[in-house]
Amino acid sequence: MTAKESNGRCPDCGEWVAIIVRAGMPAEIPPHGCRARACEYPGCPVTRFMDEMVQSASGGWHCPRHGLLLAAKDLVALYERKGEADWTAICEIIGETLPEIVKKVEAFRPFRLPERK
Ligand SMILES: [Zn+2]
Ligand SMILES: [Zn+2]
Repeated sequence: MTAKESNGRCPDCGEWVAIIVRAGMPAEIPPHGCRARACEYPGCPVTRFMDEMVQSASGGWHCPRHGLLLAAKDLVALYERKGEADWTAICEIIGETLPEIVKKVEAFRPFRLPERK
């Protein structure tokens, strides 16, 4: 099958990149330092610029709402830990992680603005 290089825009960050087009296949977008990240939560379609997304300590990216959900689950898990709750970790999440996520959730637009032409 012949592969053709062509100029196209990355659908996620809008950058011009050399995309690879094969007949009958979706265009392939090579790595290009993309500023956009897709939410890793199963079934979540959200892809946004990194500064709108939430990165977990393990390096995964999530949309603000799922970031908030995962932070809440972390808190519950730390609170319910056998023996004693890990208050140091709990306070860290409440004091440092949650305020940032809350800001992103409040700024989050459910739909993308139409592309500027
Ligand atoms: Zn991109
Ligand atoms: Zn998500």
